[in-house]
Amino acid sequence: MAMFENLSDRLERSFKILKGEGKITEINVAETLKDVRRALLDADVNYKTAKEFTESVRQKALGQEVLTAVKPHQLMIKIVHDELALLMGATATDVNIKGNPAIILMSGLQGSGKTTFSGKLANLLKSKRGKNPLLVACDVYRPAAIEQLKILGEQIGIPVYAEEENKNPVEIAQHAVQFAKQHGKDLVIIDTAGRLAIDEAMMTEITAIKNAVNPQEILFVVDAMTGQDAVNTAKEFNERLDFNGVVLTKLDGDTRGGAALSIRSVVNKPIKFVGTGEKLDAIDIFHPERMADRILG
Ligand code: GDP
Repeated sequence: MAMFENLSDRLERSFKILKGEGKITEINVAETLKDVRRALLDADVNYKTAKEFTESVRQKALGQEVLTAVKPHQLMIKIVHDELALLMGATATDVNIKGNPAIILMSGLQGSGKTTFSGKLANLLKSKRGKNPLLVACDVYRPAAIEQLKILGEQIGIPVYAEEENKNPVEIAQHAVQFAKQHGKDLVIIDTAGRLAIDEAMMTEITAIKNAVNPQEILFVVDAMTGQDAVNTAKEFNERLDFNGVVLTKLDGDTRGGAALSIRSVVNKPIKFVGTGEKLDAIDIFHPERMADRILG
């Protein structure tokens, strides 16, 4: 994966210190960890996260006696691997689609990939989990957004609920849920309006939609390319919405990976899905273990 190439190279180089001839010293371990920390910071990992990470690895390394290990280099890689997986949440966290209809509310800034992801998720849950979804267009400010969702819906054969004349997104969401009940749809995915930056009106609006339809799953969608900003935006949305999980989009792009590594520990919510392209099948369930495997190649 392109996004971790740099980090992978850097980590590999930091472990080389431990590969040298002769006895490993505590100084070698400390130097390796310093390199690991620099590599994380250069990958745009949050400062506090990087610091706590290396401290935790240091303790484990000493606890597992890296100094006297036959292959200290390999033991260290394993410790870092396990710690990376833990940092990202250890195991995959499923999306909650219980309820009839189950309601999933999408949140995030404009351009994060919300609308695209709504289509991807509907398609995935229809084809892999036998769901009968209804997509809902709640962006009343941009007619183009409604049109975009309709086009996506057509491509995947999933109906889109919209009320072009209605400027009240709370009403639209409520009507959509009623429509779903009347038409045997067991999953409602609500795409909401985003702004270019966080503002009060957007937060008030999405909170009102949340309170009106009581979704059991709120997903926060964020562009992985925005690095530390992604983490800060996640924090603000979480404070207002208390969302259930994160969707990291554009992982196919030239991102350094910091968001993927920091969000979980800063916001304390799991990454549930990743977007890996513009096509509708470019969606993956987020597996922390596999991501750690990729980072350490
Ligand atoms: P919204 O404003 O949050 O609804 O964002 P959109 O769904 O309209 O996406 C904004 C742009 O990002 C569009 O051009 C999408 O095709 C693109 N996009 C969305 N997800 C991904 C992804 O995972 N990878 C890439 N490369 N592009 C994406």
